[in-house]
Amino acid sequence: MGLQKLCMVALLSGMVLQGFSQVKPTGLPPALSAIKEADLKRDIFELAGDAFRGRRAGTEDEMRAAAWVAQKAQEAGLKPAGDDGTYFQFFNMRRTRTADRSMMQIGGQRLVLDKDFWVTQPVDAHIEGAVTWLSSMADTAVNLQGKVVALKIEAPKPLPANGMSLWEYRYTASAVRQQAMALRRKGVSAIIFVANDITEKGIAFIGHNYEDGSYQNVGLPATTARTNAGAARTALPVILVRSALENAVKQASTLKADLMMETYLYPSVNVIAKASGTDGTLKNEYVLFSGHHDHDGIGNPVGQDSIWNGADDNASVTVGMLAIARAWVAKPGKRSALFVWHGAEERGLLGSRWFAVHPTVNKSSIVAVLNGDMIGRNNIDSAALLGAIPPHRNSLALVNMAMQANQELTKFKVDHSWDEATHPENWYFRSDHAPYAQAGIPAIFFTSLLHPDYHTPKDEPQFISIPKLAKMTRWMYATGWLVSQTAARPALDAKP
Ligand SMILES: [Zn+2]
Repeated sequence: MGLQKLCMVALLSGMVLQGFSQVKPTGLPPALSAIKEADLKRDIFELAGDAFRGRRAGTEDEMRAAAWVAQKAQEAGLKPAGDDGTYFQFFNMRRTRTADRSMMQIGGQRLVLDKDFWVTQPVDAHIEGAVTWLSSMADTAVNLQGKVVALKIEAPKPLPANGMSLWEYRYTASAVRQQAMALRRKGVSAIIFVANDITEKGIAFIGHNYEDGSYQNVGLPATTARTNAGAARTALPVILVRSALENAVKQASTLKADLMMETYLYPSVNVIAKASGTDGTLKNEYVLFSGHHDHDGIGNPVGQDSIWNGADDNASVTVGMLAIARAWVAKPGKRSALFVWHGAEERGLLGSRWFAVHPTVNKSSIVAVLNGDMIGRNNIDSAALLGAIPPHRNSLALVNMAMQANQELTKFKVDHSWDEATHPENWYFRSDHAPYAQAGIPAIFFTSLLHPDYHTPKDEPQFISIPKLAKMTRWMYATGWLVSQTAARPALDAKP
């Protein structure tokens, strides 16, 4: 890195030394003071406040949040860069879920959908007959062909790594997947999993996930869309019931269930705005700042709170981008800046998948994507950059710019371990830069990493460190500035 960094400083020195020939050359951007903690604080308390009800994709709440972002972008001085001269780019999502009229009855007792039992994969099925209780997955006493089987859910192999986010959810999801697959091979006709203590501990979140169903892009090539891998399998009803129903299931002589799935379209929306560059030629190219405005909406209450506010995830970057916009408008760079606040990130990166295939500017004019997701938590001196080391890195030149900006300005101790291919969280694939990288555009991902309030109603603005948020915002801004001012666009790495 040393040599490349020297080249970078040499390239930049002409620009920054004008009038300051006594000063050591730096690549620092000119409007750092336009990024104000007071603005960030005001904005994040608004956007992550309860009034927006968690901004769930496909709901009115997401639409209101998108309108809020567009208005703030306009107030910051950005021009519209969405469809038809607006700040918006709408796209459809297909949602598949278990219909509310689905029912299940066990030994004459009627169970309540999404309270007593959950359908783990939407399916159309009528089940009627005796239940065969299995003492364990190893129970091979009976021929299971065509039978409705029930058993207590067992630990998946391997267990999710210690300390992973959403641990009980991951535990249950892999257990259901593995054990359903094994039972499918034995020819069962339906499966009832009884929750164990671990599943029960996370049941509010796990159950909410099953209740929501799944979302897919509509009208994208299969290689770039989020598709419903589960639905592609043959339909086997797989039901999860509360642990309290264990005895009822064991003793049940009969089971009756009518499961129905429903599919419908929702709109979601990207908010897109730009600030023109100053260089006659380079202004036709864009530095793309990326984040997502949606979050998880309303869920089963945890304690008294049912709103997943998503302050860190990802109101933090949404308001950070507004601050960068104010700085950029005050002192534009040579290249133009494009700001894309994606919708439906939490439903599977649907907004960024859409924009990467349907960009509102020429795809070849996007020189780099600087994505941020969760930048307002944890120690003020630490941060992570993803897309920074192989195999995820696609532009060393871009990574060097980010590391230079950090060295000269923010001086974070930068964690690269989350970028390692063996890291259990697989974070590189979990935010909006990924579809751009897949489309061959240099892309990096800024984050202040996980915390215990991740994807819970406690991800609220009062737990955000505003100084940390400001510092991360300045890092993204300073990196974008280097991209904007450097004559050569960041090169893609040679394919290995
Ligand atoms: Zn998230």
